[in-house]
Amino acid sequence: MQKKFVGGNWKMNKTVVEAQKLARQLADRLSDVDFADIAIFPPFVDLYPVNIILREKESKIILGAQNMHPEPSGAFTGEISADMILSTGAKMVVLGHSERRHIFLETDSFINRKVKRALEAGLKPLLCIGELLEERKAGKTEDVISQQLKGSLKDVKLNSADDLIIAYEPVWAIGTGVTATPEQAQEAHKFVRKVISEMFGEDIAKNLRIVYGGSVKPTNAKELLEKVDIDGVSVGGASLDADSFESIIRDSNIAS
Ligand code: PEP
Repeated sequence: MQKKFVGGNWKMNKTVVEAQKLARQLADRLSDVDFADIAIFPPFVDLYPVNIILREKESKIILGAQNMHPEPSGAFTGEISADMILSTGAKMVVLGHSERRHIFLETDSFINRKVKRALEAGLKPLLCIGELLEERKAGKTEDVISQQLKGSLKDVKLNSADDLIIAYEPVWAIGTGVTATPEQAQEAHKFVRKVISEMFGEDIAKNLRIVYGGSVKPTNAKELLEKVDIDGVSVGGASLDADSFESIIRDSNIAS
């Protein structure tokens, strides 16, 4: 039995003061939750200040960053290394988010370097994959997912299924208000698990959490979370508000 995973990607939102306020609200409201693993991914500048709040409140909420550079240090102006992220108290990192892939043109091979570095440094990646609307319409969803998984996880060694979480986030559903139906999401997750099984073996595939992201809201979370291969959700917009994020988390009280 696996706990569901619920992640909140704050994207480029919340100043330090606003981030600390939201972290305080979440820590207070969610102190009783042990049925799910909850993570929040604030912007880099908010990580350390948010960690102070989470520690003060003795919260179990996991802190994560939204991106990372694959090199350990050096002349990479504007970038942040794995060790810097770890030094803020964060334990996870989002890699390969569609906004990084499509706005900042990150490739699978670059994401692959980041995954390897994160694992080596002891940061757990939340690796995002997902197809564009044109790709879905052209019947290429499985090809795209397979290529992204094989590219970004090339030569990656996993010691356990808990080393990594995969987020299936169809690009056409991110921030658009259009959610994949539970059936569409389940079908894609089942396929992701099949590819993971081919790459890492059945044991890892059975236990590795595959979460859905794309316009998850309090009104649609439960039906997604009830699907057999949906081990949690990755939430963008709806994670910026304590009421809606809490409601989604309470709906995740279902074992996977
Ligand atoms: C995301 O950015 O990972 C995401 C799923 O965003 P939203 O929930 O806003 O669609």
